[in-house]
Amino acid sequence: MKKMIMSITILMLFLVSCSTPTHETEESVSMEETYKPEDEMYVHEYDRTFYIKNYARLTDEQLDRFKKDIYDAVLYLEERFHDRIDEKKYYISVDVGYKASNADGNSIHYYRYLEGRAGIIHELTHAMLGYQFGGYFTQEGLAVYIQNKYGEFGYPSSDISIHSLMSYFKENNKYIPLETLMNEELVSNFGGKYANEVLQWMAYTEAGSFTEYLIDEYGLEMFMQLYNQPELASKVEEVYKKPLSQLEEEWLNFIKKQSTEEVAKLFEIPYLKDINERLLKSNIHELINTYDWSS
Ligand SMILES: [Zn+2]
Repeated sequence: MKKMIMSITILMLFLVSCSTPTHETEESVSMEETYKPEDEMYVHEYDRTFYIKNYARLTDEQLDRFKKDIYDAVLYLEERFHDRIDEKKYYISVDVGYKASNADGNSIHYYRYLEGRAGIIHELTHAMLGYQFGGYFTQEGLAVYIQNKYGEFGYPSSDISIHSLMSYFKENNKYIPLETLMNEELVSNFGGKYANEVLQWMAYTEAGSFTEYLIDEYGLEMFMQLYNQPELASKVEEVYKKPLSQLEEEWLNFIKKQSTEEVAKLFEIPYLKDINERLLKSNIHELINTYDWSS
């Protein structure tokens, strides 16, 4: 017994002395704040590679978390849309600054990752499922739909129902007719660098709510026939065998029945509170027609 205690003690001493230098290394690493400027992740289940530029200088731990977030979102999209995903390689940057994250082809710039506002699955939806000019309405609609189903809550409706927010807009007579929203010539009003913030908030909400309604009511298959398509109004009629105005009316009747009670909670978020105040003062029709997005 004594011998055994002795050997355990020796073993423990050995273990302690072995682990000490490791601790020191870890500490010196974190003091110098080293980081990997680039990294890469291979999703072998689906043969996709993600090249990552770490401009935000995420620590190794943060970078691992980021990669895990990307990985989980990729699996979610692959499980549902595998047949529609072509690209094998994606170029991702984690950037510094307060811009909105954005995707361009198979590259994505993520901003505000550490604040939880990067919109991981939203941008991956654009990059992996396709994003071409003219398809704006369904691209944003599907990305908002997916982020909400996935539970990555953020802009435009956080964790409250998108239909409730839509109902709140309608109650306050703030509405952009779908045909206007789908008009490719007006697209710069509603999204991107020059968009008006009030209009963009409405556009994302309307696109998200209408998309969710169509998918819940008519199924994902039909919606995917519209996805990323230009000249959407006529495409809608072709797929759903009824005019856009009729579908719009159906959807708005459904929206009317949604409670707006929980919307107030949304305005505890400062930037949404601010946009909401501007929304309530705006004449939407005037805003669309007079907003100079080229300046
Ligand atoms: Zn988007």
